[in-house]
Amino acid sequence: MKPIVVMKFGGTSVQDDVAIDRTASIVRGRVERGVQPIVVVSAMAKVTDQLLAAAAAAARGDRKGALFVTSRLRNRHLEAVGRLVTSAACSEVHSTVDAEFNSLDEILRGLAAVGELTPRISDMVVSYGERISSRIVTAAFADRGLNAVHIDARQCIITDAHHGRAIPQDDLIEQRLREHVLPHAQEGRVCVMGGFIGSTIEGVTTTLGRGGSDFTAALVGGGLESESIEIWTDVNGIMTADPRVCPDALRVKSISFEEAAELAYFGAKVLHPATILPAVKKNIPVLVLNSHNPGNEGTRITAVAPHCRSPFKSIAVKKKLTIIDVVASRMLMSHGYLKSVFEIFDKHKCAVDMVSTSEVSVSLTVDSNEKLPEIAADLSQIADVKYEGKKALVCLVGEDIRGHNGIAGRVFSTVKHVNLRMISQGASEINMSFMIEEDDVEEALRSLHKEFFSDPDPEIFDTTEAAKPVAT
Ligand code: ASP
Ligand code: MG
Repeated sequence: MKPIVVMKFGGTSVQDDVAIDRTASIVRGRVERGVQPIVVVSAMAKVTDQLLAAAAAAARGDRKGALFVTSRLRNRHLEAVGRLVTSAACSEVHSTVDAEFNSLDEILRGLAAVGELTPRISDMVVSYGERISSRIVTAAFADRGLNAVHIDARQCIITDAHHGRAIPQDDLIEQRLREHVLPHAQEGRVCVMGGFIGSTIEGVTTTLGRGGSDFTAALVGGGLESESIEIWTDVNGIMTADPRVCPDALRVKSISFEEAAELAYFGAKVLHPATILPAVKKNIPVLVLNSHNPGNEGTRITAVAPHCRSPFKSIAVKKKLTIIDVVASRMLMSHGYLKSVFEIFDKHKCAVDMVSTSEVSVSLTVDSNEKLPEIAADLSQIADVKYEGKKALVCLVGEDIRGHNGIAGRVFSTVKHVNLRMISQGASEINMSFMIEEDDVEEALRSLHKEFFSDPDPEIFDTTEAAKPVAT
């Protein structure tokens, strides 16, 4: 049998007939190359958000509002069908999609009558996004001569009943994939399934959490031990810096899972590495590729990255942060003190990004949010508190800092003219971060990029002109 490649297409890659047509050509290209694709698709762009809005409206009793949302969605999907499927199969897909929308509307009417949105119903409603997009994509593939077959992902992706963020049951998934997907692949058929959705063993629809289609791709690739997993999106992969700030940013050709995980926290736009763990655990490479530029090699994420001459792979920035200084001269190092500080953040469900402590103070950074006055009020019960917004975290990531001496010196002398508020070297030893004023970000990023990427290792970075991001 030909080697299996799982190809995942995100919302923008299936957003309309033009995008789906492009997706079909990319898949055909893989078939012609002699691999056996299994395709995982997201809902069309923005559909998940709109379905959640419809569910919320229905639960408020706004039946009309909810049905208005779905009537627009119905038109959008049927329009895509009409443009994509010209063969006799058109009326068949048309009625399948229509029937899905009818049952969705029925759920929303029920929801409006009951007025209570449970996580279980919410999963039921949002699942239609991927259920319908996968039907349309299958029909479009078939219309373009691909031997495509639709698979209901819920038959294979078996999860627990934790609605909204269900936990996949790996062994059952593997068994189901072998039963429902593998035989088709062996016959050379291109299986197409929706990402993000699953079901409990009893058959109740669940979802894997927002952005969960990448997770589905990794589960399918991991379960069937595919040769690779391709995540098709609308960027050329991971870059050395944000190209809008650093026009000379380079594409990173190869990166380790750990490095990608550190970076994801800042620019989750590419993918969330936790979701590709099932693939990494089995040593299956994950490629991030661009639907608008399919000839580009993208970024290859592997468990172990090849050696790189430069210490860093990429510089990420996170803005809109607040620094909180907690000063308590008497109590700081006393037993249980930090615990009581963190309990307050926990109580307000506020995630802390960076922490640094001294004898008398502890500084923490958090995403700026409207809870800050309440958090500060609680903290002031146990210490003196000050907080200040408009801060940014700059984070340099690379495994090869381990082997280099004097990296911190180079980093900090490059930004010596900027006021550094906090410094931390990640426990993982692959990340060096510091906090500055938001206004200093562009200057700092450009200087650091120049310092660390002006002599890039051509094995790791794309140093050719073709690496330049396509304007979108
Ligand atoms: N459609 C889902 C979402 O928007 C899953 C995905 O696109 O990965 O979160
Ligand atoms: Mg996504």
